[in-house]
Amino acid sequence: MKRIAYYPGSFDPLTFGHLDILRQAFGVADEVIVGIGVHAGKTPMLDFEERAQLITQAVKEMGGQVRVESFDNLVVDAARDAGATVLVRGVRDGSDLDYELQMAGMNGAMAPQLGTIFFAANPKYRAITATLVRQIASMGGDVSSFVPKPVLALLNKKFE
Ligand code: ADP
Repeated sequence: MKRIAYYPGSFDPLTFGHLDILRQAFGVADEVIVGIGVHAGKTPMLDFEERAQLITQAVKEMGGQVRVESFDNLVVDAARDAGATVLVRGVRDGSDLDYELQMAGMNGAMAPQLGTIFFAANPKYRAITATLVRQIASMGGDVSSFVPKPVLALLNKKFE
């Protein structure tokens, strides 16, 4: 049976932290689908197409292949519709873990056949959050150690 993993998040923008979780997911799944959550009323920094393209390109450079889709419904429904058997999440610290366990618990109650796999953040990247990357970039700060080059190029263009 083909093992399909679903990695949901905002990826606004993709960071080295996300990319490392994706790399780990490829180690346990035959196919990884990235689900970009899009919510009416929440304006992202990058639109869906920009985020999807950056993820596809970064994974390709890593020698992998990924499908990126958007979802605006429950993660468990999006994952099930995509044919996934597991959700993938990254854990940076204790507060991530508390929150992730809550979500995994409620998702598991709604969809018992869908498990959640947590991957540990790479110590090199565990301080990175997309929220801070957005803030730093918008104020002209250097985010080159937090995001892949194509992401950096797009942010520089947006905020020059
Ligand atoms: P962020 O929390 O950076 O805004 P997302 O909401 O897109 O990012 O997060 C999607 C998933 O990626 C979550 O499971 C989150 O814990 C994980 N993640 C985010 N940043 C990192 C990182 N630096 N290292 C490992 N996992 C991460």
